[in-house]
Amino acid sequence: MFQRLSTKLTILYASLFGVAMLAVAGLVYAMVSDSAARSVRAELQANAAVFDRVWDLRARQLSDSADILGRDFGFREAVATQDGPTIQSALDNLRSRLQLDRAFMMTLDGDVVGLEGASGADLDLIWNALDSSERAQGILSIDDRAYQAVSAPILAPNLIGWIVFAAELNDDHLQQFEGLAAIPLEASVLSRNGDAWRATDPTLSARDLALLEPRLAETTEGPQRLRLQRGDTLVQATPLGAFAGGDNAVLVLRYPLALALRAHQPLLAAILLLGLGGIVALSFASWMLARGFTKPIAALDAAARALQNGQRTEVSVETNDEIGRLAQSFNHMSDEIARRQKHITHMALHDSDTDLPNRRALENALGGIAGDGVVIAFSVNRYQQIRAAIGYQLATRLIAQLGQRIAALAPEAIAGRLSGDTIGLVAPSLSEQQALDLAAYVSANVNGALRVDGVAVDVALCAGVTCALTPGDHTPLDRALIAVEQARVAHTDRAIFDADAYGDPARNLSLMSEMIAGINHGALSLHYQPKLDLRANAVIGVEALVRWTHPTRGRIAPDLFVTMAEQTGHIRALTEWTLIQAIADQRIMRAADFDVPVSVNLSGRLIGDDAFTAMAITLADDADARLCLEITETAAMNDPDAALRNIDRYVASGINISIDDYGAGYSSLSYLKQIRAHELKLDKSFIDALAANSREALLVRSTIDLAHGLGMKITAEGVETAATLALLRGMGCDVAQGYLIGKPQPVRDLLHSLRQPTPIARAL
Ligand code: C2E
Ligand code: MG
Ligand code: MG
Repeated sequence: MFQRLSTKLTILYASLFGVAMLAVAGLVYAMVSDSAARSVRAELQANAAVFDRVWDLRARQLSDSADILGRDFGFREAVATQDGPTIQSALDNLRSRLQLDRAFMMTLDGDVVGLEGASGADLDLIWNALDSSERAQGILSIDDRAYQAVSAPILAPNLIGWIVFAAELNDDHLQQFEGLAAIPLEASVLSRNGDAWRATDPTLSARDLALLEPRLAETTEGPQRLRLQRGDTLVQATPLGAFAGGDNAVLVLRYPLALALRAHQPLLAAILLLGLGGIVALSFASWMLARGFTKPIAALDAAARALQNGQRTEVSVETNDEIGRLAQSFNHMSDEIARRQKHITHMALHDSDTDLPNRRALENALGGIAGDGVVIAFSVNRYQQIRAAIGYQLATRLIAQLGQRIAALAPEAIAGRLSGDTIGLVAPSLSEQQALDLAAYVSANVNGALRVDGVAVDVALCAGVTCALTPGDHTPLDRALIAVEQARVAHTDRAIFDADAYGDPARNLSLMSEMIAGINHGALSLHYQPKLDLRANAVIGVEALVRWTHPTRGRIAPDLFVTMAEQTGHIRALTEWTLIQAIADQRIMRAADFDVPVSVNLSGRLIGDDAFTAMAITLADDADARLCLEITETAAMNDPDAALRNIDRYVASGINISIDDYGAGYSSLSYLKQIRAHELKLDKSFIDALAANSREALLVRSTIDLAHGLGMKITAEGVETAATLALLRGMGCDVAQGYLIGKPQPVRDLLHSLRQPTPIARAL
């Protein structure tokens, strides 16, 4: 109901105090009114007694006077002689002397002297009263006025009549009586005439009279409490004897309680005022007190809400009590929450092994870049092998170190671990070309021997670049990773993501079953690219390259489906077909008098496969084929022992071995030494840079020397210009292959073009 604790406490205390004050006031009032009522009661009873005494005294006075007159000889004689004037004058005389209101005489016959204004009924009543009692006294009603009357007999010596003296009970009379009382009570005499009661007192209203009437008949001890016109009133009714006998007259003393309480009113008012003042003071005090309590609680409440909304707040600790300690605990708790939150956020955004920002952190960084951000993924070449050689922990440390170095090289960008062997770099506002340059700069500064805990590791990076705004199905981070693979396939150290080359991933899902169908339905074919011996100036071999024309997608790049076949386990079927087809095509070439070895690319995954090796050897033996198998280092290293064993078996059965794509990132000298290869094919990336870069020239030259030293022929791949060819020739390169000499083409086209002098002539 109330939002504030301070309001609640204030209202609670104020109402408790109010109730207590009310109870006290009620009690005091009850006690005061009770004591007032009691004192009034006592006063009324005392006054009633006084009145009784006064009444009696008066009655006796009247009676004595009447007796004296009754015994007066002259008077008796006047009565006996019926001397009216004498009687009258005697009565008048006494009346004025005794200040009586009435004084009269009645004979036994009922004759009356000295009474005026009485009705017949009055006279009857008087006569009856006198007749029945020798000394009648009490209230007498004459001419509707009430009197205190006494009678005395006139004896001569026999009873000859009565004297009656009466004093009127009028207002003055009663007021005199009221004046005797200690309290201002109101006195009235009620007399009954027949059934109707009549009051001597005009202050008694008809309504009060009606209320009083039923109580008059009751004989009660002490005053009664009645609700009269002037409020609660204590009423004392004292029966007064009637002249004619019976209880036909009552003295009623009244005293309104309000009057009795009036004396105590200042006290009650003081209590009331004190109570009200107390409530105000208490409300104020409890409000202040509650505020003292609730202020720190409200501050805690506000701080807790702020904390709920993720804001860190500190509550100021002002006291040393429970609330102070609560505030202190709250501050500790909020510190702890902030610390943990920071830790959790750190954990969520960092790689647990290397403590580098993780993929999500890179995503966030990318999300924070408005416009043309780029992502560069740097993947460590031969990471599997490095990890196998130096162990998981060192390899992880290597990645951490790389991440730090890359971050230091590109301070504008954010570097993080994108995958096990890949560091991602998110850089703002760079064009793709600038990003490629950055990738080259980073690679150039990182490539080489790195020391990880004292172990030297030769590291080479391959980079994939993509622009954040490039549309496509993949996220920029995924595109950068794909671009790394595309760079590897293209035998280059960096590449921009090529959506066309990657194709539609959804459609690629069904590609393999379509490829197998293509093998069976002749959709695949082999093209042959000539290899030129630079000394003899003759084509001394051809390389078989697979081609697939898809019924709906058209030509599909071998890189795409060969890689996919390797990953999905379909490479064996493809290579088997290639071998059979190459052997068949060699028959055609031989028939055309062109008998040269055919180089077939052998996927690394198949080199370790003993069954495949046996099958390949049997196929070659059966056809008496002259074959060369081109292998790349990556795959051979998967299971080096099995690979080397099978290579020996190929060599033993007369099949030549060629190391393909040398220099594309996977090469190592120990590998070269171990493999009994006949040929080393220098990767196209070397050859491309040859003419422009003296460092590459030096590398190519020393590689040529190295190969010769190891007893291998050297073939340059991807020769496109005469200048390159001339350089290679100068360096002592044995064989050249490339578009300059001839593009891959179907066997019949190859044979046809070989008959033309043009291609070779161009090469020379
Ligand atoms: P690779 O074995 O290094 O083949 C050489 C690639 O370079 C071929 O691409 C060839 O067309 C291309 N090439 C030759 N001379 C030049 C040149 O002067 N300039 C340029 N820009 N490119 C040149 P292709 O046919 O697209 O094959 C790509 C890769 O696919 C091959 O690289 C090879 O690794 C794989 N591959 C192709 N056919 C087969 C196959 O029958 N079996 C297996 N296992 N792999 C294959
Ligand atoms: Mg090849
Ligand atoms: Mg190659």
